[in-house]
Amino acid sequence: MLLSQISVESLKGVGAKVAEKLSALSISTVEDLLFHLPYKYQDRSKISPIGSLLHGQTAQVCGVIEKADVVFGKRRSLVCKVSDHTGILDIRLFYFSMAQKKQFSRGQYLQCYGQVSHSGRSISMIHPEITYLKDSSNPRLSDRLTAIYPTTDGLQQKTFQKLNKQALVMLNHTNIKELMPINLLKQLNFPPLCDALKLLHQPPIGISLDDIYNGEHPLIQRLAFEELMANQLALKKLKQKHQNYRSFPITEDRNLYQRFANQLPFQLTSAQERVIDQVNNDLSVDKPMMRLVQGDVGCGKTLVAAIAAIQVASKQFQTVFMAPTELLAEQHYKTFKSWCKSLNIPVCILTSSMPSKIKNDNLERIASGELKIIIGTHAVFQKRVEFKKLALAIIDEQHRFGVEQRKTLIEKGHKNESKEEFRPHQLVMTATPIPRTLAQTTYADLDLSIIDELPPGRKPVETSVTSDLNRDKVIERIKHACEVDNRQVYWVCTLIDESEELACQAAEVTYSELEGQLFPLKVGLVHGRLKTIEKNTIMQQFKSGQIDILVATTVIEVGVDVPNASLMVIENPERLGLSQLHQLRGRVGRGEQQSYCVLMYHPPLSQNAKQRLNVMRETSDGFIIAEKDLEIRGAGEVFGTRQTGEVLFRFADLLRDRGLLPQVQQNAEIIAANHNEIVTPLLNRWIKNGDQLSQV
Ligand code: ADP
Ligand code: MG
Repeated sequence: MLLSQISVESLKGVGAKVAEKLSALSISTVEDLLFHLPYKYQDRSKISPIGSLLHGQTAQVCGVIEKADVVFGKRRSLVCKVSDHTGILDIRLFYFSMAQKKQFSRGQYLQCYGQVSHSGRSISMIHPEITYLKDSSNPRLSDRLTAIYPTTDGLQQKTFQKLNKQALVMLNHTNIKELMPINLLKQLNFPPLCDALKLLHQPPIGISLDDIYNGEHPLIQRLAFEELMANQLALKKLKQKHQNYRSFPITEDRNLYQRFANQLPFQLTSAQERVIDQVNNDLSVDKPMMRLVQGDVGCGKTLVAAIAAIQVASKQFQTVFMAPTELLAEQHYKTFKSWCKSLNIPVCILTSSMPSKIKNDNLERIASGELKIIIGTHAVFQKRVEFKKLALAIIDEQHRFGVEQRKTLIEKGHKNESKEEFRPHQLVMTATPIPRTLAQTTYADLDLSIIDELPPGRKPVETSVTSDLNRDKVIERIKHACEVDNRQVYWVCTLIDESEELACQAAEVTYSELEGQLFPLKVGLVHGRLKTIEKNTIMQQFKSGQIDILVATTVIEVGVDVPNASLMVIENPERLGLSQLHQLRGRVGRGEQQSYCVLMYHPPLSQNAKQRLNVMRETSDGFIIAEKDLEIRGAGEVFGTRQTGEVLFRFADLLRDRGLLPQVQQNAEIIAANHNEIVTPLLNRWIKNGDQLSQV
């Protein structure tokens, strides 16, 4: 029988209670138990002379008890003096029983394992693990490293060790299925799965623990590789699945495109044109487009989306455009409305906080098919929203949305009279510029378009880092920018302890301070707690130049576009990740003039924060920033999975294992083509229920 089919309950020592604890760690079969790897190892293979022990070291010693006494110091403790001819070790117990005291009898040999501490002249171990020996000549030495497992409350290390011992006895090459083709393992110098697991649970003395801990050991790489492979195959399958759906083919209307382009005050960049071509190609067939458009902040993704939406509208179909914040939805709505006016395409907005009368009216006109472009927040995928003929779903700043939300929207397709289902084409946009191989892994179910060019004339934002002790100088600078250069300014208040509430308060305080200090300049305030209508009014006033300085929380992080704003002050930038700072900074540098960003930190700065702010000062290249961000924060955070709560991988780490990705991608193709029989078992092993990919 396969270990994946044997319940942990069949192991000795697992009753209902232990089984429940294990299941909290997602362990229900013997195979799961084996995949639950130690997080560290202890070396109990040798005995150290007491005289050689260093402070802080974890060690094993062996000796004879000289005496044991209860000592009344600051705290009562039992101190047992153990000698081994090289020195004397104090074993100190704060919690002890009378029986224990008895066991500490003079002449008794024992072996103990624990952390050493020196104080004054004494060397001690506090609550070490103790084994009583008959005599000193034969301490119990292990010929392997001892594994320590991540565990949970009420589940002891010892239990884990006992269970794993049983599991390892059961483990042999026949009952854990080797799914990777043997040739491939050979070619990559990877051990078979069975050997990898055995070695990771009971590594030989002398194995490179550093490599295991940092995941670069072939044993870990072996598991990471298989996991990445499973993920890749799952995404491939998901992509194939999309291809089984039908969509409305939208053929390009070149004439319309020209009319639209002619009304713009600028020329499209060649990167925009290239991506528009790719999108138009996808739209023209009756299979759903699944395209991710990636491009740094300010590269002009909105325009690409608009052209797709207009093409769709001209064929009397509908487009829904989803943005992560009301502020951004509102802004897109205005932009689209102005672009669509001369083309007579009706556009509307849908947010959860809009007056219900207007909303109901909009809903009706969406259901009747009259409204062609529907822009909104998550309100657009609520049940009440029914489209007449939805052909295209656009998702802006997709890293802000969960997979679930995207799915709900896509399922708002269309059924015709014969109950045939039509799925909307999907255009997904993101400014998180991740390296191509990473993108191909994370978004392998999507085709990738990259806008790798900014509109001409953009100058990189000049960034400086300064302490908030220089706040007065910063204020002067703002005055100069507004009064002399006629520019506008953002002042961003960052989150305190992840609390939007506190950030709003901080913004309110800053707002009233600045109002006083900057008089007669006009200061405005936006934050997440304002009513939509208030937010909109303020944004409108900022856009039209009635407000000179906009104090804001990070609600303006995504998408907001006011080209005349050329200075941004970010307070406490040390609280933010690099990608977020990059996004924020992307709000300036949108016009022709030179723009500036002042990162005003609160001293003292940690080394890490200093390093991060320096990255911001030195580069405006989103790719470099994303790479650094990955290095500093790890992939989970950067891909925004923190918000949506998805766990990416058990063993793999996209950043660390980047080198494996080309091999993974290449071999996923081969496996899908030549070893299709292992795809399902691989997915069963690695893609757990509740995983974003478990739907495949
Ligand atoms: P993002 O890719 O960050 O979403 P936007 O679509 O908001 O960027 O575009 C940023 C700004 O650049 C907008 O003001 C937009 O009108 C302008 N823009 C877009 N394309 C061009 C272009 N080809 N030339 C000049 N400006 C452009
Ligand atoms: Mg945008």
